[in-house]
Formats: sequence, C-alpha cells, structure tokens
Amino acid sequence: MNKNVLITGGSRGIGAATARYLAGQGYHLCLNYRHDKASADALVAEIQEQHSVTCIAVQADVSVEEEVVRLFEEMDARLGCITHLVNNAGILQPQMRVLEMSAERINKTLITNVTSYFLCCREAVRRMTGGGAIVNVSSAAARLGSAGEYVDYAASKGAIDVLIKGLSLEVAAQGIRVNGVRPGFIYTDMHTDGGEPGRVDRIKSQIPLQRGGQPTEVAAAIAWLLSDEASYATGTFIDVAGGR
Ligand code: NAP
Repeated sequence: MNKNVLITGGSRGIGAATARYLAGQGYHLCLNYRHDKASADALVAEIQEQHSVTCIAVQADVSVEEEVVRLFEEMDARLGCITHLVNNAGILQPQMRVLEMSAERINKTLITNVTSYFLCCREAVRRMTGGGAIVNVSSAAARLGSAGEYVDYAASKGAIDVLIKGLSLEVAAQGIRVNGVRPGFIYTDMHTDGGEPGRVDRIKSQIPLQRGGQPTEVAAAIAWLLSDEASYATGTFIDVAGGR
C-alpha cells in the first residue's frame, strides 16, 4: 500500500527537512504551505528530481477550517488517501511578557498552533479507515514555559501535548497511532519571526549538548514515530532538545 503523507508547513524549516527525509523512505508527499509558494515549489522540484515519489504542494492556511477541508480534498484528488500526517505548521510572535499580551495576539497563536492541529487530525482520522499514524510537532517550550519570551506559544504547545494524549486513546482501537516530537532550539527562520534571529546561538551554552539542533535531527525522530518500527508506540513523545 502507498504511504501518503501530509506535512503541514512543509515548505521550510523542520517541515522541509522532514519532507526530504520521508521522500528518501518512499513516501508520497503533500506539502502544505501558507504564503511562501517559491520555497514550496522549489522543494517539490528538488524531491521529484531526486526520488521516485509523487510530491505536490498545496497552499492553505491551516488555521481556517474551510481551507483545511479544501487541503484534504485536494490531497485526496491529486495524491490519494492520507495514511500519515505530520502536523507541523506553527507560528512564533515577537518576544514579550504575558503582562503585555493582547487577546488578539494570544488568539492568533492558539488558532494557528492548536486549532489547526485539531482540524487536521479530524480530517486525517476520518480518512484513516485502515489505520495510520500521526505525529504532532510540539515543543520543549511546553515543558519549559518560555518565560519572558512567548508564554502564549508555550501554552499552545502544552495544548498539543494534551491533544496527543487524548486523541491517541480515542483512536488506538482503530489502529491509528498519535505521537509527538518536542524539538527545542533548532536553527530555522522561526526565531526571526520571534524577533531574535540569533536566539539559538545566544542560548546554546545553556543547552547540555552545548549546541543548537538541526532540522534533520528533528526529522529523524518524526520519521521513526511515523514508521512501522514504532508500531507499539502511541500517546508518547520524543524530546529533541539537546538535553534541556
Ligand atoms: P518555520 O521555519 O518558521 O516554518 C514554518 C512553516 O509553517 C512554514 O512552512 C510556513 O509556511 C508554515 N505555516 C505557518 N503558519 C501556517 C498556516 N497558518 N497555515 C499553513 N502553513 C503555515 O518553522 P520551524 O522552526 O520549522 O517550526 C516547525 C514546527 O516546529 C512548529 O510547529 C514549531 O512550533 C516547532 N518547533 C520549532 C522549534 C525551533 O527551534 N525552530 C522548536 C520547537 C518547536 P510559509 O513558508 O508559507 O510561511
């Protein structure tokens, strides 16, 4: 049976590294992105040149329910039924204390980082009638809290951890596994959105392994949890945060 994976936010960063990794394992891929069509198209071209798999890119804002429904319908039509899902799209907003946060900012973080994961899980589970696997990308922030930087983001990732636990129990008897990866301090553009492009290098001396992580190191953990090698793992997490 074909392995058809949807990676939300698959155009850049950890999502793009995961796409490359899974293409090498023979998955057919649907790469979702929000704005950056050029990066998504370039990655599709690269993967199709290097691997014998089908790879498509679909624009959709996964924080909007109608767009999630359209994304899955487009994947059904162009790639085939989903067997694996990587919920990865997420945002970080500029660093500030909780005392300064507006409701608009908090809601934007929660809708983009949490509601989108719920909606994509819903659409995937509806289609995974023969079983399947879901990996939700959470964050070490869910354990650490991100004080003085973005507690709203950390809270959104805490909600993801609870989604993983609860949904894994709801769908285990259907042969669907739901797990999480909690990266921390990975070199991607996300830290620029958070207002500090050099954040990983500033923090790295406080990380037990004394360095930031690469997106490929997160991709490997995602790929293992998706794979049949993880067939008895559900409702669980891999921390990829250099020991923090
Ligand atoms: P990134 O480099 O900023 O890439 C974010 C990706 O998400 C892009 O493909 C972006 O699409 C997409 N995206 C954002 N909002 C979207 C929306 N509403 N609908 C559809 N796509 C959307 O981020 P990253 O660092 O790879 O992060 C990926 C995941 O890892 C996130 O969930 C993040 O919270 C988590 N994480 C990252 C780190 C880290 O240190 N980097 C640590 C812990 C957890 P466009 O390119 O079109 O904008």
